[in-house]
Amino acid sequence: MKIEKVLVLGAGTMGNGIVHTFAQSGYKVVMSDISEQALARGMETIKKNMERQLKKGIISQESMDSAISNITTSTDIAIAADAQLVIEAVTENKDLKFNIFENLDSIINPDAILASNTSTISITEIAARTKRPQKVIGMHFMNPVPMMKLVEIIKGLSTSAEVYDTIVSICKHLGKTPVTANDYPGFISNRILLPFINEAVYALMENVGTVDGIDEVAKLGFAHPMGPLFLADLIGLDTCLAILEVLHKDLGDPKYRPCPLLKKVVASGAYGRKNGKGFYDYSGEAPVAVKFH
Ligand code: NAD
Repeated sequence: MKIEKVLVLGAGTMGNGIVHTFAQSGYKVVMSDISEQALARGMETIKKNMERQLKKGIISQESMDSAISNITTSTDIAIAADAQLVIEAVTENKDLKFNIFENLDSIINPDAILASNTSTISITEIAARTKRPQKVIGMHFMNPVPMMKLVEIIKGLSTSAEVYDTIVSICKHLGKTPVTANDYPGFISNRILLPFINEAVYALMENVGTVDGIDEVAKLGFAHPMGPLFLADLIGLDTCLAILEVLHKDLGDPKYRPCPLLKKVVASGAYGRKNGKGFYDYSGEAPVAVKFH
């Protein structure tokens, strides 16, 4: 099946990046969210990021205009009922995703592929909520989507070879590099990354180092482009906590226990860069490390 029209569900950190990337590669994209405000913010972010690409000479004015014209926004997914591909990028919550896939299955073209950008929730379980489990797959983009090359592709137990091949070729068309992971909690990337971030928060909680100190060690000592606490803010602290909770519950190993300080920061309403405060404060010109001791 030729993929021309794509529905992206969720206009947040990942959703708007996925829309940006597909629109730039010539696909017609509908960006949908339950919140009008999130749609407006998502569109604003896409324009701002494309303008940055324009200034750097990565894209031309003509290709930016054409990409923007490929995007439609709506709170009603029914306007994309004829889409050939859906990518779900809503909040990391199992029950929410289960409900959404049941709903998508009844509304969207029965031949369409239903992909999830989940960080850790089982693709097999999500697929079982639909009457087309062979057409359900994980398409795990990295943040920020327009810049990051990797897409982890997760095959559920029932995902067909044809659907897998289609998704691999779409990733290549987007200029991305697909890597296949099997369907276990956290797949490859978050099985490795989240314990690292969690341990950095434990080191902060136990006052082994400051926010700056911990991040400097990772940058200068391990040659990471950014430290784990700065990266946690970029991912979203609520999302990091949700991923750790699934790793902890579904793998059953206490080594994945979310750090109490991470829980406390999320409980305070600080979700990281997306709402202005996390381990850093983003209200000024440059991020400033928050003091915890
Ligand atoms: P986010 O909090 O930035 O955005 C989530 C969006 O989903 C919000 O705009 C919210 O309004 C919307 N939403 C909630 N319920 C909805 C519904 N019923 N219908 C439509 N929209 C709804 O979250 P995010 O960071 O973009 O994460 C989205 C998904 O991508 C999650 O599954 C997450 O685990 C995954 N992911 C995140 C990252 C990351 O670095 N943030 C990386 C890879 C994958």
